[in-house]
Amino acid sequence: MNEFPQVLVFESSEKEEDSAVELARQVAVQGIEAPLVLCNIHGKRLASELSGPLGPQTPDGSADQHGAAALGGLARRAGADAIVAVGGGRCIDIAKLAAARAGLTVIAVPTQLSHDGICSPVSVVPDDEGRAQSLGAVAPRLVFISIPTLVDAPHASASAGVGDLLANPLALRDWALAAEHGLEETDQRAWDLSVESFQRIKAHLDVPVQESLRDPEFLRALADALVLSGMAMICSGTSRPASGAEHEISHAIDRHFGGRALHGAQVAFGCVISVALYDEDTSAFRGRIARLGLPEHPSDLGLSKEDTIELLLRAPETRPGRFTVLEDADLDRGKARALVEHIWGDS
Ligand SMILES: [Zn+2]
Repeated sequence: MNEFPQVLVFESSEKEEDSAVELARQVAVQGIEAPLVLCNIHGKRLASELSGPLGPQTPDGSADQHGAAALGGLARRAGADAIVAVGGGRCIDIAKLAAARAGLTVIAVPTQLSHDGICSPVSVVPDDEGRAQSLGAVAPRLVFISIPTLVDAPHASASAGVGDLLANPLALRDWALAAEHGLEETDQRAWDLSVESFQRIKAHLDVPVQESLRDPEFLRALADALVLSGMAMICSGTSRPASGAEHEISHAIDRHFGGRALHGAQVAFGCVISVALYDEDTSAFRGRIARLGLPEHPSDLGLSKEDTIELLLRAPETRPGRFTVLEDADLDRGKARALVEHIWGDS
């Protein structure tokens, strides 16, 4: 089994400069002498104390699987002994994939907490045609959480991080459903990690994220929860404990509507559909996610009623072989329409 990453939270100071010094110290403690540093604009200050064989590399917005492989090759040729990624989800995903291609370890230093890929062994990186693809990569050896950096992140990214975690209890039900049908076996340790992940954030779900964002306690809980969710996936070797029908819906939004919001925000919207399919109270759930600043209505994602029906019909194709409450419902166009009207009325 893969090893779990070590997680360090730096919160003893108000200054990001102090985090930067601590990060460089921790990288050295890992025995890393020549890191290839990958950072985006938000990670520049935090990466400023790191030095390696090359200057900091910046992934461009269109970095794809080729870009990741090229970066891995560059790291090898430069004699780097690890890749340190300081940035958002894209930056960390590219680093995890580049490291997998080059056989190096990764240190992940998120500058925002927008999804649970921070420490998962999976990278979501576009292919040649710009379609997002989930690929096996390496899980980071160390995740360094800098609270002074995260308090300045946009609240939309923290909302999305919370949105991604809302999936966990539903994903577990989907996993149990697949097990009931004799299609898969659940893994108790991965299950428990996913439950624990959601528990960490539960107390913060009724407070608007904009209000919580400057609260280091909230950021720490969110970071812990996202890391635990990644660990659940490392443990099971699949995304199962954190990804069910709601993720299929988010993937279908990416594939057919070009992506309308951050991953975690789309996942939160997908959760509304799972909640309905499990015959639970969608209006309470919608109210909760609206308070968190997440999309609760198709129009929040610029989707019409017909788009949403199409989405429900196309979502199972995004994960062939995965059985969730959506595959169990086996929707045809009529049933999909009835479901959409049941949740959102005629509008
Ligand atoms: Zn996710």
